[in-house]
Amino acid sequence: MPELPEVETVARGLRRMLPGTRLVRAELRRRDIARIGAADWPRLEGLEWGAVERAGKYLLFTLRRRTPRGQGRPAWRLMIHLGMTGQLRISQAGEAEPAHTHAIFYLENGNQLRFQDPRRFGRLGLLPLDEETDIAEADARLGVAPGREPLEIGEAEFIELFRGSQAPIKSALLDQKRLRGVGNIYADESLHRAGIAPRARGISRPRLLRLRRELRAVLRAAIRAGGSSVSDYVNSEGERGWFQMQHRVYGREGQPCRQCGAKLRRVEISGRSAHYCPQCQRLG
Ligand SMILES: [Zn+2]
Repeated sequence: MPELPEVETVARGLRRMLPGTRLVRAELRRRDIARIGAADWPRLEGLEWGAVERAGKYLLFTLRRRTPRGQGRPAWRLMIHLGMTGQLRISQAGEAEPAHTHAIFYLENGNQLRFQDPRRFGRLGLLPLDEETDIAEADARLGVAPGREPLEIGEAEFIELFRGSQAPIKSALLDQKRLRGVGNIYADESLHRAGIAPRARGISRPRLLRLRRELRAVLRAAIRAGGSSVSDYVNSEGERGWFQMQHRVYGREGQPCRQCGAKLRRVEISGRSAHYCPQCQRLG
């Protein structure tokens, strides 16, 4: 599943392509992936793409009316969550359309922004912006997770979020109401780098501070590498990421730890798999 670095990579690609471009038409082929605002898609015709943002694992777009004097006010908020296998790619008009293409945004330059998702865990949502509904309100109604951004959170807030948590640290890191954007890969990788076992709880302040540093470092390194392509993740230009080459534990069970040589393990914690080194990672 695409996590923060993969979604950020897609957002960066789209930021280079979309803002200021006119949307000729928006075609939604499956209503079940767009539970909010499916009937409103025809109303996007002729609008212009504004800002492209990311919040956790959510891609957020504003669409605005073009006025003779330049940019109009934001008129719509569009949310796209890639789910497990969702891809959002810019394609040329004549390019063969992949199977499981559920939505197409036709751009004025002839390109298409296509959303494809074989497993259909992805979600799209659309809401009008008006006096009553500002962007923050729209995002909340579109289901954007309320947690803090890991790359923005300060030390004191981070400690506050995890200190005294009764849940194993691995589960707490995945809880999108605390931090948003961290999934299985980057939770496992940051816990190994911080030397904390996934089942640990009641973690001391200095070790939580180390976890915050390692989490931010691993997310930044992954963004620089274009994300991790462990299954079918590609960016908006169809290119794979390379951070999987730098994974220390995720997907490496049975292989030797790159730090100490011990055999890496995989366990289930609250229904999610956790990869870790029994020697380098300590409880508490
Ligand atoms: Zn080790």
